[in-house]
Order: sequence, then structure tokens, then C-alpha cells
Amino acid sequence: MATDPAAELPFFYGSISRSEAEEHLKLAGMADGLFLLRQCLRSLGGYVVSLVWNVEFHHYSVEKQLNSTYCIAGGKPHCGPAELCEFYSNDSDGLVCTLRKPCLRSPDNPIRAGVFDNLRDNMLREYVRQTWNLEGEAMEQAIISQAPQLEKLIATTAHERMPWYHSKIPRQEGERRLYSGAQPDGKFLIRDREESGTFALSLMYGKTTYHYQILHDKSGKYSMPEGTKFDTVWQLVEYLKMKPDGLVTVLREPCVNRNNTKQTPVVPSGVSIKNILHGRYSLSNVFIEASAKWLIIIIIILLLNTVHFFQRRLRTNGYTPPPGVPLGGSKEIKTSPPTDRPMLPMDCSEFVNPYHDPNDLKKFFINRDQLMIDEVELGSGNFGCVKKGVFKTNKGHTDVAIKVLKSENEKLVKDEMMREAEIMHQLSNPYIVRMLGLCQAECLMLVMEMASVGPLNKFLSTNKDKVTVENIVGLMHQVSMGMKYLEEKNFVHRDLAARNVLLVNQQFAKISDFGLSKALGADDNYYKARTAGKWPLKWYAPECMNFHKFSSKSDVWSFGVTMWEAFSYGGKPYKKMKGPEVISFIASGSRMECPSGCPDRMYALMKDCWTYKHEDRPGFVKVEECMRVFYYSISNKTPPEVTADAAEPLK
Ligand code: ADP
Ligand code: MG
Repeated sequence: MATDPAAELPFFYGSISRSEAEEHLKLAGMADGLFLLRQCLRSLGGYVVSLVWNVEFHHYSVEKQLNSTYCIAGGKPHCGPAELCEFYSNDSDGLVCTLRKPCLRSPDNPIRAGVFDNLRDNMLREYVRQTWNLEGEAMEQAIISQAPQLEKLIATTAHERMPWYHSKIPRQEGERRLYSGAQPDGKFLIRDREESGTFALSLMYGKTTYHYQILHDKSGKYSMPEGTKFDTVWQLVEYLKMKPDGLVTVLREPCVNRNNTKQTPVVPSGVSIKNILHGRYSLSNVFIEASAKWLIIIIIILLLNTVHFFQRRLRTNGYTPPPGVPLGGSKEIKTSPPTDRPMLPMDCSEFVNPYHDPNDLKKFFINRDQLMIDEVELGSGNFGCVKKGVFKTNKGHTDVAIKVLKSENEKLVKDEMMREAEIMHQLSNPYIVRMLGLCQAECLMLVMEMASVGPLNKFLSTNKDKVTVENIVGLMHQVSMGMKYLEEKNFVHRDLAARNVLLVNQQFAKISDFGLSKALGADDNYYKARTAGKWPLKWYAPECMNFHKFSSKSDVWSFGVTMWEAFSYGGKPYKKMKGPEVISFIASGSRMECPSGCPDRMYALMKDCWTYKHEDRPGFVKVEECMRVFYYSISNKTPPEVTADAAEPLK
């Protein structure tokens, strides 16, 4: 429940039914204006305000809109459930009366977690782990970045994890399963119908099975004929456990599908994944509390059999990449997204392989015969060029980018590349280009994972019409996560710029080019360069230019410039100025203007990054949080609006 924005409210009861709400209000005295808030069982992320007036109950549903605001039908939008309730405590604005007296939850009455609340964290985690083969810190970061997009996807597939879900079986098989064992009234199962994407409910009553088709309307809602409409199948099932809605009986005991390997154990309420992470709750505790041995067996089967479940499923969906977004050429398992869900940041085969065998990562040197080098040049720089290649391991072949050092004789350049390799070798983060190893053969080669879509500035300037502001915010959020990681590890990048942010695909960015990077000593806050070299002055903070001092705070300044480049679709910063002119421009207090179409909040963050004094400038912890909050607030993470006929009837 930690994720519910209403969790902090003392009058929020969580997932309770209408009649339970009425019971609480009765016990609290039925005064005029007495109210409570509960989770809406019908729409994802919605609530219901239950209010007393004139010894009668009034229930108002609060819908979560596409733009993540909340409103009572016909009322004003509010940014959260708390704000909404506060508003209606001052202004009835169409309700029977203002919200006068909160009906407080008693301490022995904890917020009731909904079925999905219990599953969401687990599923999100499992999904990220299985789809992208991640563990540890990399997984934590991926979860943070993917949560908004995945929540909807997970909610709409949650039924597959339920014990009552029997996937595609014929009606007769459904009957056979219901008749096997005890046959109490209300025993039920859900199965797929022949017609794909539609479901049927088979229900036992008076030792007879009844079959109902679950309707799926144009807007994607599920319902019984003439019944209340729901965003997801599992919500409909939960509702039918409370109300028959035209069925012979309410749903009671699930007919458990013992073949369902996707089932997740129901985690006891109050056990959030955060508790598990922080060691407050071990996984074995969760299982024991779920107190069903067979669940453990299912989990083992689940782990063994479904590691590649999503991969298999995604592959069979015949995904074709959107134009301009080449898929990685890995010869291994493809994790291509199906067309029925949006392209997600980490849908790329490249991502899977480098993490496949942690032992591979420990190797620093790569044998020449493990590399095939293409003639194709991906780019070039001071040191030589970057070529496309294939890295052969016993696990399969992976596409790689190979930085080839041309001037082998120049010891200085060689040392520089060795340093770059050493820095990269210590980094492991989804948003940083991973180094796979060094190869010393006809020349020195730095082998990296491939980011085939190339530099961010180029991509944006050639794909203006295809890239939304939300897309840019998402990418820059990933860059901020990569930078937060660097800051935490005490590395300074010193060359953060849009040209050094490479794209794996349109939704997945990685920081690259550690040619100028430095590892700071444990007690050092900054690196002092003895001489100024070929420096990217337009990306440098004042203290870099004036005192040659480099720190994570100076990387924050560069992050601001990189943001500016991104929101200008690859525009050139301080376009008409020369390096030294930029120094005086900044010193005079001027800053670049807001790129057109760039959200105010993002421009405000850029300006924070361009705080003159590094002591007053935010660090990446702050920058990442700011990016994340904004990204989540604009991400399309809520389902479409509920149509009028589906709204919970108002009294
Ligand atoms: P430089 O220090 O010269 O800027 P970079 O590391 O930025 O070198 O690489 C130069 C160019 O090579 C990049 O702009 C990009 O086009 C290409 N490149 C580098 N690394 C990769 C990679 N991992 N995947 C794909 N292309 C890459
Ligand atoms: Mg570069």
C-alpha cells in the first residue's frame, strides 16, 4: 500500500466495499458531513468518497484522469486524493454537503490492501527481472525507470497470476475441473475463449455449472452483460465476489488451476517489497505466512519454467520495430515487445547479453579470436574510430561497438584509452555503456556494448516529428539515474553532453565516452586538472574554467546543458558564441533561454543546474528525483476515462 497516494490519510480505508464503508460510518455516529475515502474497486487508481448527510449515505467516485489528476465527475481536477478532500471540505461544489468530519480509521483497523496492491510490487520486480535478466542494483534502477509504463501493463495481465485463471481450455474441460473435488456454490474459474482476448466465467451453483461470457467493450472495459464495467479482469472478479451482478450467485471459492505456472503467491498484506528489500521481511517469511506448501512448489516451477516466459511471449507476437529504431542484432534471445504495448526503454536484446553471465564481466581481456570486426564505422574521435563488431562467447554472439586505437605508437593515447577502460570496467549500471573488455591485438581495442541508434543530439535533430516531450523527459531521467550512480561511486565524467549520450533505442539512453573521466579519491570532492586541454567549454561550469576544479557538481552543470540540447532537439548551445564569450556571458548572470516547447519545470531544473556557485547547485540525487517526479507526473500511466454509464451510481 506504500504506493497508494492516499495511504497517509487517516480516513483512507483502502480496498473496502460500499457496505463496509457504510458500517464504519454508522459506528462513527452518522453525523452530517461525516466521510471516509476508500479505493475504487472498478477503476485503476480511483477512489470513492463515502459521505453522510441527513442520515443517508452518499458515494461519489473519484476518477484518476489520464493526466494523473483526480476528480469527481463534473467537478474540478485535483493533483491528489488529499488535495481533493481538502477542497471539498471547504466547498461542497455539487456534493450534498462539505466534507466536515473525517471518519478516522482505528489503529486496529489497518488500511486494507486490494488484491492488486499485494501483487503489484512483486509483479513489477518479477517482470523486470525476467524480461531483462537483471539483478541487484541494476534491477532497482530499472524498476524505478519502468514503473509508470509497466504498472498498466502489469495490471492488465495480473489475472494470469491468479489461481482461478485457467487460460485457454474448452468449456467441457472447465466443467470437468469444476466437478472434480468438492462442488460448493460459488466455485468458479475464468478461462480464455476461442476468440482471442475474450474471457468466460464458469461457475458452480446447485451442483450445476453455468457459463458466462465476459464482455469486452470498445474502450477495453470488462463486464458481465448489463453489469458494471471494469478496467481489468481481476477487478471484475473481485467485484463479483461481493455482488452477483446478474449471476446465479456471487463468486466464492476459486477452482485452482494447478497447471498455472505464472501464479504468484499472495503476499500477506503489510508486506511490501520495500520491507523485503530492507530485510524486514525475508522471502521465506512471506512464503511461510502464505502457509501453503504447494505455493513453494509453484514458485520453483515458476522460476525454472518461466524465466523466459515474457521473452517467449513477446517473440511470438511478431513485433516489428518502429521505423528508424533498429533492433539490436544479437543472435541470442530476442526480447522484442509486441505491438499491443508501447516500446519500453529496455526492450532490446543488447541489454540481456552482457548481464547473462556475471563471470563474463569479471574478465578484462578479450581474445582476438572472440571478436569479429566489421568495416562499418559507427563514429570517430581523437583516438581513432569506433567500429561495429560481434563478440563471440559460448553463450552466443553479441553485437558490440569497438573503439579501435589507431596510433598504436603514441604511448600517451594508449594510456588514455587504458584509463578509460579501467574506469568503465568499474561501472555497472543500465544507463551507462558497459565495457565488455579490452583486446590487445593488431591494435588496442576497447569492446563495449552496442548502442546502435547512436548519439542523442543526432537522433533528435533528425527525428523531430517522431519524438515527444515525454519521450525526451524519459531519456533525460535515465541519464540522471546514470549520473546519480556515477556521483555515488565518486566518479566525475567531465564530458557529459548530448553527443555522449547514446541510444539503444528511442526509449533507452546510456551515458558513454569516459575519455575524460576521473575516479575521485575517497576524501576528495573534486579533481584538479593541472592543464586545460581540449575542453568542451560550453558544457563546463564556471569553477572548471576558472579553477580547473571538476566534481559531480560540475557534471550537474553539464547535465543542464545536455538537457537544453535535448529539449532543443539537438540544437547547439550558445550557438553564436565562442568559448571565452560563454565564460563572460555566464559570469554576467545570463543563461540560455528556454527551448520552445520545453516544459517550465524542466527549464527551471536546467537553471538550477546552472547555479553559479557549485556549493549552492543541486547534486544528482536531487536532480534525479526532480526528473523522476516530473516524468511520472506526465507519463501516461492511467487507463482511459470511465464512460458515464460505467460510473458508480451516485445516490
Ligand atoms: P570521443 O572520445 O572521440 O568522443 P566516443 O566514445 O564519444 O569518442 O565515440 C565516438 C563515436 O562513436 C560516438 O559519437 C558514437 O557515434 C560512436 N560510438 C561510441 N561508442 C559507441 C557504442 N557503444 N555504441 C554505438 N556507437 C558508439
Ligand atoms: Mg564523444
